[in-house]
Amino acid sequence: MHGLLARGAQQLEELFPGLQGELLEAGAPLFDHAELASTTVWAGTVPRSRSGVQAHAFSRGLLESTIRRRVTALPQVRIRAGSTAEGLLWDAGRSRVEGVVLQGDAETLPADLVVDASGRFSALPDWLEAAGYPRPRTTVVDAGLAYATRILEAPAQDYLGLQQMNSAPHRPRGTFVAGVEQGRWIVTLFGAGGDHPPTRPDAWVDFARSLGNADLDKLISSSTDASGVRQFTRTENRRTEYAAMSRWPDRLVAVGDSVCAFNPVFGQGMTVAVLETAALGQALTRRRSGELTGLAREFQRQAQRILRLPWLMSTSEDLVWHHHRENQGKLPLLLRVANWYKQRLVYLVVHDPQVFHTFLRVYHMLTPPTAMGAPRMLAKVLFRARSAAPVPGPGAA
Ligand SMILES: Cc1cc2nc3c(=O)[nH]c(=O)nc-3n(C[C@H](O)[C@H](O)[C@H](O)COP(=O)(O)OP(=O)(O)OC[C@H]3O[C@@H](n4cnc5c(N)ncnc54)[C@H](O)[C@@H]3O)c2cc1C
Repeated sequence: MHGLLARGAQQLEELFPGLQGELLEAGAPLFDHAELASTTVWAGTVPRSRSGVQAHAFSRGLLESTIRRRVTALPQVRIRAGSTAEGLLWDAGRSRVEGVVLQGDAETLPADLVVDASGRFSALPDWLEAAGYPRPRTTVVDAGLAYATRILEAPAQDYLGLQQMNSAPHRPRGTFVAGVEQGRWIVTLFGAGGDHPPTRPDAWVDFARSLGNADLDKLISSSTDASGVRQFTRTENRRTEYAAMSRWPDRLVAVGDSVCAFNPVFGQGMTVAVLETAALGQALTRRRSGELTGLAREFQRQAQRILRLPWLMSTSEDLVWHHHRENQGKLPLLLRVANWYKQRLVYLVVHDPQVFHTFLRVYHMLTPPTAMGAPRMLAKVLFRARSAAPVPGPGAA
């Protein structure tokens, strides 16, 4: 599943004007998230309404090929497909990066600025350590969650998106479904706490049925398979604390998953990557003189600020799974209180459209998560909500 949050879509549109129109023309549906997506949480299915929060559904292939076409058309861009960066080029004092080493030391590529955007498995910590820098600290929060995704061909349904959220620690299973271009549906099943969806097609269908979601069952039973099942298990939240390092080289920046990879279940990765990239563009524009000294460290701190709230959102649920596994279910007091509050909010999401709309705006990063603790919301949570039903969901151990 590859959902782009509304904030990420806005920022991409600023970087590539007309992108949304191009995706629409290619058949990617744009819809009101509360009106045409069906959302189920432990407290029930959220009644449909209009929220004004737009969701755009497309395959990752369509988004990436559309952006790649735009970038390739820029006269100053040359793409060297198939090249692997295997190290950094340093100045004599190892205080400044001057380029990259490509494949087996065979070639070097000098550069004024090196941007590491090599993703979740970036080798940058090793390269820094090899150059005499202290190894950056890495924080990992692992919900033990895995995905198993299948692309289906199916007739139109009365929804374009479907999500069923899991809930720590008693309901490990959930799903994300998106109707994308060309009448295809991307159906992702997921399970946390080690309750992983299987890859055998018949077992995958059984796992889907265990969710007890009639809309999902109807979609699957009217569909044909267009892909087979693909599994992804490396979903841990992983943040590398570059901004906290005592030394940082000039002319080197890290963006996107290389700095912070999120559990994809919250759909934040692309949005955070594009927000960081836009911030880097603005930082470079401010240095029109071409003087780049100090820019790298400054940017790395800014990237840290950008990902602070998304990290909090992504890890608050996953920390419960994490502690459940590591500490036999004993949660620190603060986390117990946060989880209690969150579960009551989830109850309200089903029973109060305004709460759901605020939740959607926070989820899409259009409003900071503090909105969920604003005085009116607090009063509703304290006086109108109920706590999570203790009844375990499918897959509960
Ligand atoms: C299964 C799954 C589902 C996801 N779902 C969503 C979602 O719904 N919404 C969302 O916003 N995000 C989602 N994400 C996260 C999103 O894909 C990432 O956050 C985003 O792609 C990060 O972009 P990036 O450029 O930092 O890294 P990547 O997209 O990982 O790109 C890194 C690139 O660098 C290349 N590379 C790596 N090492 C080298 C090297 N040494 N030399 C040269 N090239 C190299 C890789 O081949 C790759 O092309 C999902 C991720 C996964 C795995």
